[in-house]
Amino acid sequence: MRVDRSSCARRLPTLLAGLLLSGLFDQALAQVSHADLSMGDRGTVPVSSDQQLEVLSHDMDVDLDPDRHHLQVTDRMMIEIRHPSLSSLSFILNRALHVSNISIVNRGEHLAFITVSNGSESHESSTQRVTISLDPPPGPGQRLILEWQYGGIINDPPREPRHLRFVTPSETAGHIGPEGIYLSGETHWYPDLPGALPTFRVRVVTPPTWHAVTHGRQQFQAIQKDKMVAEWEIGTRTEALTVVANRFVKTQQDWQGIEIATYLFPEDSQLAQEYLDASVRYLKTYTALLGPYPFPKFAVVENFFPSGLGMPSFTLLGSGTIKRHYIQPYALGHEIVHSWIGNWVFNRPDHGNWVEGLTTYLANYYYEELTGTAEQAREQRRLMTFGYAVYVRSEDDYPISRFIQKTDQKDNAIGYQKTAMVFHMLREGIGNELFWKGLRHLMSEYGSAYADWHDVERVFSTVSHTDLRWFFAQWIEQAGAPIIRIQDARIQEENGPAIHRYVVRLHLVQVGKPYRIALPVKIEMPNDQSLLTALLLDSTEQVMSLPVPARPVSVEIDPNFDAFHHLDRGELPPMLNRFVTDAEHSVLVPTHGDEEARQPYQELLKRLLAQDNTISVKVDHDARPDTSVLVLGGPGVNGAADWAVSGCRDQVSLEKDRVTIEGHTYRGPNMALLISCSHPEHPEGIATLFYGVSPSAAAKVARLLFFYGWQSYLVFQDGAVIARGNFSPVRNNLKVTF
Ligand SMILES: [Zn+2]
Repeated sequence: MRVDRSSCARRLPTLLAGLLLSGLFDQALAQVSHADLSMGDRGTVPVSSDQQLEVLSHDMDVDLDPDRHHLQVTDRMMIEIRHPSLSSLSFILNRALHVSNISIVNRGEHLAFITVSNGSESHESSTQRVTISLDPPPGPGQRLILEWQYGGIINDPPREPRHLRFVTPSETAGHIGPEGIYLSGETHWYPDLPGALPTFRVRVVTPPTWHAVTHGRQQFQAIQKDKMVAEWEIGTRTEALTVVANRFVKTQQDWQGIEIATYLFPEDSQLAQEYLDASVRYLKTYTALLGPYPFPKFAVVENFFPSGLGMPSFTLLGSGTIKRHYIQPYALGHEIVHSWIGNWVFNRPDHGNWVEGLTTYLANYYYEELTGTAEQAREQRRLMTFGYAVYVRSEDDYPISRFIQKTDQKDNAIGYQKTAMVFHMLREGIGNELFWKGLRHLMSEYGSAYADWHDVERVFSTVSHTDLRWFFAQWIEQAGAPIIRIQDARIQEENGPAIHRYVVRLHLVQVGKPYRIALPVKIEMPNDQSLLTALLLDSTEQVMSLPVPARPVSVEIDPNFDAFHHLDRGELPPMLNRFVTDAEHSVLVPTHGDEEARQPYQELLKRLLAQDNTISVKVDHDARPDTSVLVLGGPGVNGAADWAVSGCRDQVSLEKDRVTIEGHTYRGPNMALLISCSHPEHPEGIATLFYGVSPSAAAKVARLLFFYGWQSYLVFQDGAVIARGNFSPVRNNLKVTF
């Protein structure tokens, strides 16, 4: 079994951090004074985007009837007037909800109100604006309690996710039905103002066998008049209140005064302990890194449609996800990190999204670094770098500051992966201690408030006593990534009376606008000796000299993917994702073998064509396409199978019931293989072969084939991966072997 070549001579972060503190990051003047961190102007951050009034709290009675898809609400909303002569107030509410009455409780008045709808019927943000007249206008500072009575039908059954291998929550703007209830910010199910951060008290009435779950802590639950009544107190200020309900089995335990709970469907309730244990594990880890957990509970809640959503104090994971024991950092860990980042410190949606990249860095990446091997952490950085290389075409690229939310793989590569790598470089640059200190400052200073990229920059500049303007301008405010090449590398031998050493003269170029970037460099010498150091690159051409004690064998820039840079397609190993994202691509379907043998490939093809109508389909006795190609079926079934792997030359040999890859042979009827080589005639393209020795071996892998897009080869036994690895790219601009 072979994985990516391990090449880490020693742990890099410490080395780089030390070097950079006295170098690149220190060049900027430490102009930022401590006063900047006191956030003296925080009080002027509008608590709602409509600065004329502030919504302080909601006190709601919510009656949910799943069979009728119906909601009935009485909401006592406390507002504080800011404007001296406010004669009318406007609120946003779902247009399907009918308002029957609004009164000012503490003035004893029933109000005249008008409603104005905006948004189209079909659009998910289909809302109405409810405008209330106030006569006489209340004075500034006056608090009013508005009591609303409204109700209606919320019935938008979740639709299936649309992407081939890109998991997005099913699309719904809120649903009340026998299969479950989901009311979110997108539902606009209570009167609200954009940017408001109120607290809540909510009493929810559901059928007697149902449990409702929302933010905060449950104060009370009992069956009254054959209905389940539960009361929840949400004491932290909240952007958008989500309420879900279903026939849950609740399991709970205490961790340091915090209620840890699961709400699972009866058939999955035996998984409760696994999720409780994992939740405690992540909470322990991230409390140590980010400071106290901000909420009174954390709950894992099973959802009736596919989702991975993090709400303040609970996460909503799709049933399929729950059943697959998704307690990994990229599922549950990610949602728990959102408890601090996104649900405690808020992101202004119209000011760019720093929250997803930082959460990805801390959960999907850093947990791996903290608990796994250096090789696993490197693999995560490799995948983040490759994600950008594969999915972001330069003409579609945009600055991180313009990322709002992901709708496709390109957004994911920019807003999640590239951004995570930027936080990695920030950590490398200012060092571990200041990085974590900065994050804790961000959490404590901006808890219950909004922060944007400028606030993130200010916090890290202040804790590091370094002006980081250049760093954020370069990485956040401009599109792209550095394109770096070794133009030339030579060895010089230096002999003197007291000295005998070698010097590597390295000529580096940057294509396009030069970045200021710290580049790790690895020099290999005989007898497995290696030296890892770092260079500071900040112009289009630089020649640098690196003295080494023995004659170098090779020199390589950024062998462990610590410095984010652009890779063109020829610099990536052959892999299925290159086939998927190539502008032109073909599938070669089998014509040999019997019907049963071809069956799994025909089904796979059907699914592929449903997702991607740019694929051209050919059969195996057609002329070989000169585009990137996916060949379905092994020798004996597809006449092009041997041709498909011929670009790998002697690294791969294929027979009907076995394959040999780099000297290891895999065989047997339960084996399946996904292998990508350079296109035999056009090495910039890809030829990928997928086959199972038996139809059942192929069928087991085919379902999830596109989740295996990042490696050159994967060998499966009975559907499980038993070996994986990568072949060299056709071109490596960052390594020279002498
Ligand atoms: Zn997220």
